Amino acid sequence: LEVQFTQSQKMQAIGQLAGGVAHDFNNLLTAMIGFSDLLLTRHGPDDPSFADVMQIRNNALRATGLVRHLLAFSRKQTLKPQMIDLSEVLAELSNTLLDRLLGPTIDLQFEHSRDLWPVRADKGQFEQVIINLAVNARDAMPGGGTLTVRTANRSLGEAIQRGHEVVPPGEYVVVDVMDTGVGIAKENMERIFEPFFTTKDVGEGTGLGLSTVYGIVHQTGGFLLLDSAPGEGTVFSIYLPRARDDAPALDRYRAGTTSGTG
Ligand code: ADP
Repeated sequence: LEVQFTQSQKMQAIGQLAGGVAHDFNNLLTAMIGFSDLLLTRHGPDDPSFADVMQIRNNALRATGLVRHLLAFSRKQTLKPQMIDLSEVLAELSNTLLDRLLGPTIDLQFEHSRDLWPVRADKGQFEQVIINLAVNARDAMPGGGTLTVRTANRSLGEAIQRGHEVVPPGEYVVVDVMDTGVGIAKENMERIFEPFFTTKDVGEGTGLGLSTVYGIVHQTGGFLLLDSAPGEGTVFSIYLPRARDDAPALDRYRAGTTSGTG
């Protein structure tokens, strides 16, 4: 008997497993850090093993950071969706964090369409999505390149299917995050959204960036499409459904919290 799991069921199962493991590890690591501290205070910096114990403690601390990532991924995050204008959120992000994150060898292009439809999304989580994609793009362009973030309104007359992902017909705000990097090998295309899948060196990649992106986009009611050509570059396209039924709330949001530049 063959049991078919959907991609999201698979992600959920792995997430639960990861959460359980992370929780137990967290307790063990807390004990390791606690006992290291005890040794450090008992022996002091003149003791020949002080530096070694310090190493143990610092590595345990790093492991705690990793575990925290895991817990964040597996926990059912409670999203606080609100009406947002993605162009504004992206403009803010690209002026500050993204510029710094990408460094001088990567050219950041931001092409935003006017009168972008509103979407209902958690602003902080959406920023996390863009940051994760930007970090990956940066890592894919070690010799420099261009990262383009583009927004557009899009009416889909028919469904788009690519791999596991099916985007039903409807109205969407699309955000393309496009790099001119190394691209993704064909045999990895289906696997990159799995938690822990990474081609990066130990300590550099956790393999949790894209599974987090996948989780947030789907919890927001959206879809994620991927196009990549090895040696040419990669495009991640985020499709978020147009929000319609809450126009007054958007007006209130605009009036209250944004400066209204365009
Ligand atoms: P991590 O970045 O920690 O490896 P991710 O889940 O974010 O974890 O990414 C998984 C893998 O997908 C990466 O190790 C890399 O091989 C591949 N990948 C993701 N984004 C890109 C990109 N923009 N270009 C090329 N490869 C990518």
